[in-house]
Amino acid sequence: MANSDVPSNGNQVEGTVEDVVIIGSGPAGFTAGLYTARANLNPLLFTGNDYGGQVSITYEVENYPGFPEALSGPELVERMKQQAEKFGTRVEFDYVGEIVVDRHPFLVRTANGREVAAKAIIACTGARPRYLEIPGEKELMGRGVSYCATCDGFFFRGKDVIVVGGGDSAVEEGLFLTKFATRVRILHRRDELRASKILQERAFANPKIEFVWNTVASEIVADAEGKVAGVKTLNTVTGETGQLETEGVFIFVGHLPNNELFKGKLELDEDGHLVTDDKMRTNVPGIFAAGEIMDKVFKQVATSVGQGCAAAMQTEKWLAELEDHPYPGFADPRVFRQRVAVPV
Ligand code: NAP
Repeated sequence: MANSDVPSNGNQVEGTVEDVVIIGSGPAGFTAGLYTARANLNPLLFTGNDYGGQVSITYEVENYPGFPEALSGPELVERMKQQAEKFGTRVEFDYVGEIVVDRHPFLVRTANGREVAAKAIIACTGARPRYLEIPGEKELMGRGVSYCATCDGFFFRGKDVIVVGGGDSAVEEGLFLTKFATRVRILHRRDELRASKILQERAFANPKIEFVWNTVASEIVADAEGKVAGVKTLNTVTGETGQLETEGVFIFVGHLPNNELFKGKLELDEDGHLVTDDKMRTNVPGIFAAGEIMDKVFKQVATSVGQGCAAAMQTEKWLAELEDHPYPGFADPRVFRQRVAVPV
Protein backbone atom coordinates (compact mmCIF):
# COMPACT_ATOMS: atom_id res chain seq x y z
CA MET A 1 0.00 0.00 0.00
CA ALA A 2 1.54 3.31 -1.02
CA ASN A 3 1.11 6.62 0.76
CA SER A 4 -1.52 8.64 -1.03
CA ASP A 5 -2.19 12.28 -1.77
CA VAL A 6 -4.23 14.31 0.69
CA PRO A 7 -7.89 14.11 -0.29
CA SER A 8 -9.61 17.35 -1.10
CA ASN A 9 -11.47 17.35 2.22
CA GLY A 10 -8.17 17.12 4.14
CA ASN A 11 -7.80 20.88 4.14
CA GLN A 12 -5.29 21.36 6.98
CA VAL A 13 -2.09 19.95 5.53
CA GLU A 14 -0.32 19.82 2.23
CA GLY A 15 1.59 16.88 0.89
CA THR A 16 1.02 13.20 1.32
CA VAL A 17 -1.00 11.24 3.79
CA GLU A 18 1.07 8.74 5.71
CA ASP A 19 -0.41 5.30 6.10
CA VAL A 20 0.94 5.05 9.61
CA VAL A 21 2.77 7.29 12.05
CA ILE A 22 4.41 5.65 15.06
CA ILE A 23 4.98 7.81 18.12
CA GLY A 24 7.85 6.62 20.30
CA SER A 25 11.17 4.83 19.90
CA GLY A 26 11.22 2.21 22.64
CA PRO A 27 10.93 -1.54 21.97
CA ALA A 28 7.19 -1.22 21.17
CA GLY A 29 7.75 1.62 18.69
CA PHE A 30 10.63 0.01 16.81
CA THR A 31 8.80 -3.33 16.65
CA ALA A 32 5.71 -1.57 15.28
CA GLY A 33 8.08 0.05 12.76
CA LEU A 34 9.61 -3.28 11.79
CA TYR A 35 6.26 -4.98 11.22
CA THR A 36 4.51 -2.12 9.43
CA ALA A 37 7.58 -1.61 7.23
CA ARG A 38 7.57 -5.29 6.29
CA ALA A 39 3.84 -4.89 5.51
CA ASN A 40 4.89 -2.23 2.99
CA LEU A 41 3.23 0.64 4.87
CA ASN A 42 6.33 2.87 4.74
CA PRO A 43 5.95 3.89 8.40
CA LEU A 44 7.13 7.21 9.79
CA LEU A 45 8.41 6.97 13.36
CA PHE A 46 8.92 10.00 15.60
CA THR A 47 11.41 9.17 18.35
CA GLY A 48 10.28 11.63 21.01
CA ASN A 49 12.78 13.28 23.35
CA ASP A 50 13.79 10.12 25.21
CA TYR A 51 15.26 8.14 22.36
CA GLY A 52 14.99 4.40 23.00
CA GLY A 53 12.69 4.83 25.98
CA GLN A 54 13.45 3.37 29.37
CA VAL A 55 15.46 0.40 28.15
CA SER A 56 18.01 2.82 26.71
CA ILE A 57 19.02 3.75 30.27
CA THR A 58 19.25 0.13 31.39
CA TYR A 59 22.77 -1.09 31.98
CA GLU A 60 22.18 -4.71 31.11
CA VAL A 61 19.21 -6.60 29.66
CA GLU A 62 19.46 -10.26 30.50
CA ASN A 63 15.86 -11.42 30.11
CA TYR A 64 15.22 -10.55 26.48
CA PRO A 65 15.00 -13.87 24.61
CA GLY A 66 17.68 -14.58 22.04
CA PHE A 67 20.51 -12.90 23.93
CA PRO A 68 21.67 -15.44 26.54
CA GLU A 69 24.88 -13.50 27.07
CA ALA A 70 22.87 -10.30 27.88
CA LEU A 71 23.40 -6.97 26.17
CA SER A 72 23.22 -3.33 27.15
CA GLY A 73 19.96 -1.38 26.82
CA PRO A 74 21.44 1.12 24.32
CA GLU A 75 22.80 -1.72 22.18
CA LEU A 76 19.41 -3.45 22.10
CA VAL A 77 17.73 -0.17 21.08
CA GLU A 78 20.29 0.39 18.34
CA ARG A 79 19.76 -3.11 16.97
CA MET A 80 15.99 -2.65 17.00
CA LYS A 81 16.33 0.67 15.17
CA GLN A 82 18.65 -0.83 12.55
CA GLN A 83 16.28 -3.72 11.95
CA ALA A 84 13.26 -1.40 11.61
CA GLU A 85 15.18 0.89 9.22
CA LYS A 86 16.48 -2.04 7.18
CA PHE A 87 12.91 -2.69 6.01
CA GLY A 88 12.06 0.95 5.42
CA THR A 89 10.93 2.58 8.67
CA ARG A 90 11.70 6.29 8.45
CA VAL A 91 12.99 7.40 11.85
CA GLU A 92 12.80 11.10 12.65
CA PHE A 93 14.34 12.61 15.78
CA ASP A 94 11.43 14.82 16.65
CA TYR A 95 8.87 15.14 19.43
CA VAL A 96 5.16 14.91 18.75
CA GLY A 97 3.48 17.78 20.56
CA GLU A 98 -0.09 17.37 19.35
CA ILE A 99 -2.39 14.96 17.59
CA VAL A 100 -5.74 15.90 16.09
CA VAL A 101 -8.10 12.95 16.21
CA ASP A 102 -11.50 14.46 15.43
CA ARG A 103 -10.79 14.40 11.71
CA HIS A 104 -9.50 11.76 9.35
CA PRO A 105 -6.77 11.47 8.24
CA PHE A 106 -5.49 12.40 11.70
CA LEU A 107 -2.99 15.19 12.15
CA VAL A 108 0.34 14.87 13.91
CA ARG A 109 2.23 18.04 14.84
CA THR A 110 5.83 17.97 16.01
CA ALA A 111 8.16 20.22 17.97
CA ASN A 112 10.18 20.88 14.80
CA GLY A 113 7.09 22.25 13.07
CA ARG A 114 6.24 19.17 11.01
CA GLU A 115 2.54 18.66 10.34
CA VAL A 116 1.76 15.21 9.05
CA ALA A 117 -1.54 13.65 8.03
CA ALA A 118 -1.86 9.99 8.92
CA LYS A 119 -4.48 7.34 8.28
CA ALA A 120 -3.37 5.36 11.32
CA ILE A 121 -1.34 6.10 14.45
CA ILE A 122 0.42 3.67 16.75
CA ALA A 123 1.01 5.27 20.16
CA CYS A 124 4.14 3.93 21.86
CA THR A 125 5.05 6.83 24.12
CA GLY A 126 6.01 4.63 27.08
CA ALA A 127 6.40 5.78 30.66
CA ARG A 128 8.74 7.79 32.85
CA PRO A 129 9.95 7.45 36.45
CA ARG A 130 7.53 8.43 39.20
CA TYR A 131 8.74 11.07 41.67
CA LEU A 132 8.50 10.61 45.43
CA GLU A 133 7.27 14.19 45.73
CA ILE A 134 8.96 14.88 49.05
CA PRO A 135 10.76 18.05 50.14
CA GLY A 136 14.27 18.34 48.72
CA GLU A 137 13.68 15.89 45.86
CA LYS A 138 13.22 18.36 43.00
CA GLU A 139 15.73 20.85 44.42
CA LEU A 140 18.48 18.22 44.60
CA MET A 141 17.92 16.53 41.24
CA GLY A 142 21.31 16.26 39.58
CA ARG A 143 22.92 17.19 42.90
CA GLY A 144 22.75 13.71 44.36
CA VAL A 145 19.15 12.75 43.51
CA SER A 146 18.89 10.50 40.47
CA TYR A 147 16.42 8.25 38.66
CA CYS A 148 19.00 6.47 36.53
CA ALA A 149 21.82 4.38 37.96
CA THR A 150 23.22 3.65 34.51
CA CYS A 151 23.52 7.36 33.79
CA ASP A 152 24.77 8.56 37.16
CA GLY A 153 26.23 5.55 38.99
CA PHE A 154 29.76 6.41 37.91
CA PHE A 155 29.66 9.68 39.90
CA PHE A 156 29.18 7.72 43.12
CA ARG A 157 32.42 5.74 43.00
CA GLY A 158 33.59 5.15 46.56
CA LYS A 159 30.46 6.77 48.04
CA ASP A 160 27.54 5.63 50.12
CA VAL A 161 24.16 5.67 48.37
CA ILE A 162 20.52 5.03 49.16
CA VAL A 163 18.01 3.44 46.80
CA VAL A 164 14.30 3.98 47.41
CA GLY A 165 11.83 1.29 46.27
CA GLY A 166 11.31 -2.45 46.42
CA GLY A 167 10.51 -3.47 42.85
CA ASP A 168 12.66 -4.90 40.05
CA SER A 169 14.04 -1.47 39.16
CA ALA A 170 15.16 -0.65 42.70
CA VAL A 171 16.87 -3.99 43.25
CA GLU A 172 18.37 -4.27 39.77
CA GLU A 173 19.69 -0.71 39.84
CA GLY A 174 20.85 -1.19 43.43
CA LEU A 175 22.89 -4.19 42.29
CA PHE A 176 24.36 -2.12 39.48
CA LEU A 177 25.32 0.63 41.91
CA THR A 178 27.46 -1.82 43.92
CA LYS A 179 29.96 -1.59 41.04
CA PHE A 180 30.73 1.96 42.20
CA ALA A 181 29.43 2.62 45.68
CA THR A 182 30.94 1.30 48.89
CA ARG A 183 27.50 0.64 50.34
CA VAL A 184 23.98 0.60 48.88
CA ARG A 185 21.09 0.80 51.31
CA ILE A 186 17.71 -0.06 49.85
CA LEU A 187 14.86 1.68 51.65
CA HIS A 188 11.57 -0.12 51.24
CA ARG A 189 8.22 0.79 52.73
CA ARG A 190 7.34 -2.83 53.54
CA ASP A 191 9.35 -5.80 54.83
CA GLU A 192 8.97 -7.81 51.64
CA LEU A 193 10.28 -6.98 48.19
CA ARG A 194 8.14 -6.77 45.10
CA ALA A 195 11.17 -7.58 42.92
CA SER A 196 11.52 -10.97 41.21
CA LYS A 197 13.05 -13.79 43.23
CA ILE A 198 16.24 -14.01 41.17
CA LEU A 199 17.02 -10.34 41.78
CA GLN A 200 16.14 -10.66 45.46
CA GLU A 201 18.52 -13.58 45.88
CA ARG A 202 21.33 -11.67 44.21
CA ALA A 203 20.73 -8.63 46.37
CA PHE A 204 20.57 -10.64 49.60
CA ALA A 205 23.86 -12.31 48.65
CA ASN A 206 25.63 -9.05 47.83
CA PRO A 207 27.75 -7.87 50.78
CA LYS A 208 27.51 -4.22 49.70
CA ILE A 209 23.71 -4.18 49.88
CA GLU A 210 21.78 -3.54 53.09
CA PHE A 211 18.02 -3.30 53.43
CA VAL A 212 16.18 -0.74 55.54
CA TRP A 213 12.72 -2.26 55.91
CA ASN A 214 9.38 -0.61 56.65
CA THR A 215 10.86 2.77 55.93
CA VAL A 216 9.99 5.67 53.66
CA ALA A 217 12.00 8.77 52.83
CA SER A 218 10.15 11.85 54.07
CA GLU A 219 12.69 14.49 53.02
CA ILE A 220 16.04 14.73 51.26
CA VAL A 221 18.41 17.10 53.01
CA ALA A 222 21.29 19.08 51.58
CA ASP A 223 24.72 20.10 52.85
CA ALA A 224 26.05 23.68 52.81
CA GLU A 225 27.03 23.30 49.12
CA GLY A 226 23.52 22.31 48.12
CA LYS A 227 24.33 18.64 47.55
CA VAL A 228 22.59 15.62 49.03
CA ALA A 229 23.71 14.99 52.61
CA GLY A 230 21.06 12.61 53.87
CA VAL A 231 17.51 11.34 53.95
CA LYS A 232 14.96 11.88 56.69
CA THR A 233 13.09 8.66 57.31
CA LEU A 234 9.81 7.49 58.76
CA ASN A 235 9.21 3.95 59.96
CA THR A 236 5.89 2.83 58.49
CA VAL A 237 5.24 0.40 61.39
CA THR A 238 6.44 2.24 64.49
CA GLY A 239 6.11 5.82 63.27
CA GLU A 240 9.68 6.43 64.40
CA THR A 241 11.58 9.13 62.55
CA GLY A 242 15.29 9.25 61.79
CA GLN A 243 17.95 10.41 59.38
CA LEU A 244 20.43 8.44 57.26
CA GLU A 245 23.54 10.11 55.91
CA THR A 246 24.27 9.55 52.25
CA GLU A 247 25.67 11.33 49.21
CA GLY A 248 23.29 9.86 46.66
CA VAL A 249 19.60 9.01 46.53
CA PHE A 250 18.37 6.85 43.65
CA ILE A 251 14.59 6.74 43.39
CA PHE A 252 12.81 3.79 41.74
CA VAL A 253 9.20 3.86 42.89
CA GLY A 254 7.42 2.98 39.68
CA HIS A 255 6.51 4.76 36.48
CA LEU A 256 3.89 7.09 35.05
CA PRO A 257 2.59 6.69 31.49
CA ASN A 258 3.58 9.47 29.06
CA ASN A 259 -0.01 10.36 28.22
CA GLU A 260 0.00 14.17 27.89
CA LEU A 261 -0.55 13.89 24.15
CA PHE A 262 -3.73 11.88 24.60
CA LYS A 263 -5.52 13.62 27.46
CA GLY A 264 -9.05 14.60 26.46
CA LYS A 265 -8.63 12.85 23.12
CA LEU A 266 -8.32 9.14 23.83
CA GLU A 267 -9.72 7.10 26.68
CA LEU A 268 -7.34 6.70 29.64
CA ASP A 269 -7.76 4.46 32.68
CA GLU A 270 -7.62 5.68 36.28
CA ASP A 271 -3.81 5.37 36.27
CA GLY A 272 -3.44 7.25 33.00
CA HIS A 273 -2.74 4.33 30.65
CA LEU A 274 -4.37 4.32 27.22
CA VAL A 275 -7.30 1.93 27.24
CA THR A 276 -7.03 -0.68 24.51
CA ASP A 277 -8.93 -3.82 23.63
CA ASP A 278 -7.34 -7.19 22.89
CA LYS A 279 -6.53 -5.97 19.38
CA MET A 280 -4.51 -3.02 20.68
CA ARG A 281 -7.25 -0.60 19.54
CA THR A 282 -7.89 2.60 21.47
CA ASN A 283 -11.40 4.07 21.51
CA VAL A 284 -10.67 6.02 18.31
CA PRO A 285 -10.74 3.81 15.21
CA GLY A 286 -7.35 3.89 13.50
CA ILE A 287 -5.37 4.69 16.65
CA PHE A 288 -3.59 1.75 18.23
CA ALA A 289 -1.30 1.59 21.25
CA ALA A 290 1.52 -0.63 22.46
CA GLY A 291 4.04 -0.80 25.31
CA GLU A 292 3.95 0.93 28.66
CA ILE A 293 1.54 3.64 27.58
CA MET A 294 -1.16 0.94 27.63
CA ASP A 295 0.38 -1.87 29.67
CA LYS A 296 -0.19 -1.59 33.40
CA VAL A 297 0.72 -5.18 34.19
CA PHE A 298 3.77 -6.65 32.48
CA LYS A 299 6.09 -3.77 31.46
CA GLN A 300 8.86 -5.95 30.08
CA VAL A 301 10.92 -5.40 26.95
CA ALA A 302 9.61 -8.74 25.70
CA THR A 303 5.96 -7.80 26.27
CA SER A 304 6.39 -4.34 24.74
CA VAL A 305 7.89 -5.97 21.65
CA GLY A 306 4.90 -8.34 21.46
CA GLN A 307 2.43 -5.50 21.84
CA GLY A 308 4.23 -3.46 19.16
CA CYS A 309 4.03 -6.42 16.81
CA ALA A 310 0.32 -6.97 17.56
CA ALA A 311 -0.52 -3.27 17.09
CA ALA A 312 1.32 -3.23 13.76
CA MET A 313 -0.52 -6.32 12.50
CA GLN A 314 -3.87 -4.85 13.49
CA THR A 315 -2.96 -1.53 11.85
CA GLU A 316 -2.20 -3.35 8.61
CA LYS A 317 -5.55 -5.14 8.75
CA TRP A 318 -7.42 -1.95 9.60
CA LEU A 319 -5.80 -0.01 6.73
CA ALA A 320 -6.69 -2.79 4.31
CA GLU A 321 -10.33 -2.53 5.44
CA LEU A 322 -10.19 1.25 5.04
CA GLU A 323 -9.52 0.78 1.35
CA ASP A 324 -12.95 -0.82 0.94
CA HIS A 325 -14.93 1.23 3.47
CA PRO A 326 -14.83 4.91 4.42
CA TYR A 327 -13.46 5.91 7.80
CA PRO A 328 -15.98 4.76 10.43
CA GLY A 329 -18.83 7.22 10.39
CA PHE A 330 -16.93 9.65 8.21
CA ALA A 331 -19.90 10.12 5.91
CA ASP A 332 -22.04 11.22 8.82
CA PRO A 333 -20.29 13.84 11.01
CA ARG A 334 -22.63 13.14 13.96
CA VAL A 335 -21.68 9.47 13.98
CA PHE A 336 -18.05 10.40 13.54
CA ARG A 337 -18.10 12.69 16.57
CA GLN A 338 -19.80 9.98 18.58
CA ARG A 339 -17.19 7.41 17.57
CA VAL A 340 -14.31 9.56 18.70
CA ALA A 341 -15.98 10.95 21.82
CA VAL A 342 -13.85 10.46 24.91
CA PRO A 343 -15.81 8.94 27.80
CA VAL A 344 -15.76 11.04 30.96
P1 NAP B 1 7.13 -1.31 40.56
O1 NAP B 1 7.22 -2.76 40.27
O2 NAP B 1 5.82 -0.62 40.47
O3 NAP B 1 7.75 -1.10 42.02
C1 NAP B 1 7.73 0.15 42.61
C2 NAP B 1 8.26 0.00 44.02
O4 NAP B 1 8.28 1.28 44.62
C3 NAP B 1 7.41 -0.91 44.89
O5 NAP B 1 8.23 -1.72 45.69
C4 NAP B 1 6.61 0.07 45.72
O6 NAP B 1 6.33 -0.42 47.01
C5 NAP B 1 7.56 1.23 45.83
N1 NAP B 1 6.87 2.52 45.97
C6 NAP B 1 5.89 3.04 45.18
N2 NAP B 1 5.53 4.26 45.61
C7 NAP B 1 6.31 4.52 46.69
C8 NAP B 1 6.42 5.61 47.57
N3 NAP B 1 5.67 6.71 47.40
N4 NAP B 1 7.32 5.55 48.57
C9 NAP B 1 8.08 4.45 48.73
N5 NAP B 1 8.04 3.38 47.93
C10 NAP B 1 7.16 3.42 46.92
O7 NAP B 1 8.09 -0.45 39.62
P2 NAP B 1 9.50 -0.83 38.94
O8 NAP B 1 10.40 -1.50 39.90
O9 NAP B 1 9.96 0.42 38.30
O10 NAP B 1 9.10 -1.87 37.84
C11 NAP B 1 8.11 -1.49 36.85
C12 NAP B 1 7.87 -2.68 35.93
O11 NAP B 1 9.03 -2.92 35.15
C13 NAP B 1 7.58 -3.98 36.68
O12 NAP B 1 6.62 -4.69 35.96
C14 NAP B 1 8.89 -4.70 36.66
O13 NAP B 1 8.76 -6.11 36.71
C15 NAP B 1 9.48 -4.23 35.35
N6 NAP B 1 10.95 -4.28 35.39
C16 NAP B 1 11.53 -5.44 35.08
C17 NAP B 1 12.90 -5.56 35.14
C18 NAP B 1 13.51 -6.88 34.81
O14 NAP B 1 12.80 -7.79 34.41
N7 NAP B 1 14.80 -7.06 34.97
C19 NAP B 1 13.69 -4.47 35.53
C20 NAP B 1 13.05 -3.28 35.86
C21 NAP B 1 11.67 -3.20 35.80
P3 NAP B 1 5.30 -1.64 47.22
O15 NAP B 1 6.04 -2.87 46.82
O16 NAP B 1 5.00 -1.57 48.68
O17 NAP B 1 4.12 -1.35 46.36
